[in-house]
Amino acid sequence: MPRKLAAGNWKMNGLRASLSELETLAARHSDASVDILICPPATLIGACQNTLFDVGGQDCHTAESGAHTGDISAQMLADAGATYVITGHSERRADHGETDEIVAAKSDAAYKAGLIAVICVGETLDEREAGTTLDIIDGQLAGSIPEGATADNTVIAYEPVWAIGTGKVPTLEQIAEVHAHIRAKLQARFSDGADMRILYGGSVKGSNAADIFGVPHVDGALVGGASLKADDFSPIISALEAS
Ligand code: PEP
Repeated sequence: MPRKLAAGNWKMNGLRASLSELETLAARHSDASVDILICPPATLIGACQNTLFDVGGQDCHTAESGAHTGDISAQMLADAGATYVITGHSERRADHGETDEIVAAKSDAAYKAGLIAVICVGETLDEREAGTTLDIIDGQLAGSIPEGATADNTVIAYEPVWAIGTGKVPTLEQIAEVHAHIRAKLQARFSDGADMRILYGGSVKGSNAADIFGVPHVDGALVGGASLKADDFSPIISALEAS
């Protein structure tokens, strides 16, 4: 069974002073039985190398290099010490118009650079209320995961858009339904789909983590706000270890 994964997405937060949070976290989880990933802003990737954790980017360009002012390539992330990169986060899809096709190309660029892609999918509130959640997930899985995906180079994150940063969390039954559906789709398409890790993301906190990690096919979490402080992220890591 693949090791479970607690992933923190710092988004556009974090200065060098924030690295002390990682020192605190490292002291508490030096012998963690789960994988721990921190995705800080790109400016801190190099400085995170002294920590015990895996480090990831939050986005990458589809190209290796070129005239793309302000962008960063997967190869550059790897060169800075990253081993993962998040692709297709709903904030990238919404703020930067990233389509499934672009997300697939970014994930492919990640593979070429030797990075593990954390490919995000998830429905909006309107889509959930319209009863189209599973159709939306199907389209995103089909369009965003490249053919070259394996359990070693790909992690899927199910993140309902309406649960991100809102404090709203789907019911455990809703999480179970989508995760089981994603697992079935991965197994139907990839020979090692049973081993691809599927994370849940969206307002995970210390207080709800244990329940969420008890849901079948939840192999960890992608955590935004609660990953910024060691005191908030640590109970989530502990809950994953205990699951
Ligand atoms: C995220 O940014 O991927 C996320 C899940 O955020 P939050 O945990 O703050 O909802």
